[in-house]
Amino acid sequence: MRPTYPVTELLGDGIGAELSRAVHGLAEALPVRLDFRPVDLTLANRRARGKSVYDEAVEAVTATTVALKYPTVTAEESPNAVLRRRLDLSVIHRPVYTIPGVPTNFRRELDLDIIRIATGGTYDDPGRAIGEDGAVSLRIVERRPVREAARYAFGLARKTDKRVTSASKYTIQKATDGLFEAVAVEVARQYPEVPHNVELFDALLGKVIMTPEKFQIVLVLNEYGDFLSDMACGLAGSLGIGASANLAFDPSAVVRVALYDAAHGTAPDIQGKNLANPTAIFLALSMLLYQIGEIAAGHALKSATLDLLREGVRTRDLGGTESTESFTAAVAAEVGRRVAAPPGPIRADAT
Ligand code: NAD
Repeated sequence: MRPTYPVTELLGDGIGAELSRAVHGLAEALPVRLDFRPVDLTLANRRARGKSVYDEAVEAVTATTVALKYPTVTAEESPNAVLRRRLDLSVIHRPVYTIPGVPTNFRRELDLDIIRIATGGTYDDPGRAIGEDGAVSLRIVERRPVREAARYAFGLARKTDKRVTSASKYTIQKATDGLFEAVAVEVARQYPEVPHNVELFDALLGKVIMTPEKFQIVLVLNEYGDFLSDMACGLAGSLGIGASANLAFDPSAVVRVALYDAAHGTAPDIQGKNLANPTAIFLALSMLLYQIGEIAAGHALKSATLDLLREGVRTRDLGGTESTESFTAAVAAEVGRRVAAPPGPIRADAT
């Protein structure tokens, strides 16, 4: 009997339906049973049902505690922003690593876990004009999400034997970034075995390019995480095939709800053509498997996907000839093989 886990599936637009079929096909090969509970977040349904569709989504995700979300069109509102607010998803974990076979201008290996506070910074206040020639906005840093992000970062470092770098502009933004670094240091004290260093954020950007091997888990405030994620994805050449975890925490800073999604959008230009690359959603699903404690299954899925890409089994967007369906079948077969004959010991690496 395969163990069963309920998973909310937040259905989206464009290539979302094809990606969902791919995920279901692949799930058959896993050594666990995923009991998908769909919630229809397509634009048509959001327009027809309004707020009640989000009520349903929030209730479902809260009940299952883990969710897989497909891309959605941002029209009247951004479903990602609504869900982030309503589920209190305060932290984003974005692994960014070199994927063999993915074209990139960067010749070095990159393997970063970016842990970003998903609220505040300069993003919660659009600002206001002061007369004709000036404008001002507030920058907000709060202890709670910083503590949640820091505990998550240090917990991940402990599990995976990695180091944490916190980065900000604490020398200039003394109150806001100073609070961020103070909380990071407070949390670091609870993880004495985890190496922790502090960098100025501008210096970090240069150092990640020059010496990427020195950085593993990077803890950053909202806007810095936004900039760093895109820069790192650009370096890895994986803007479209990355995945993220969006996390909410209970009062003791333990993950309460985790929503996984692909970085790319709904790709309307290739909708319904069997051309969608399901790599990002598979990587999102592998992160979900790690979160529910199915480390071997998560590892089998991630490594099978990446190894196939390395061997040249790729969809057209990556210069290959595979369709969504044939790539999915190849990954499913490889996962099946790996699950039947698992490799040596696997670290509880959530990336
Ligand atoms: P996009 O990521 O959808 O597409 C950009 C290009 O990348 C297109 O050529 C597309 O075909 C290609 N592409 C994207 N994903 C692919 C995949 N899995 N396989 C193969 N090719 C892929 O970005 P866009 O065109 O700027 O946005 C389209 C829609 O997606 C917009 O309505 C936007 O609001 C939405 N969007 C949603 C999310 C989300 O829900 N997380 C994120 C970004 C954009």
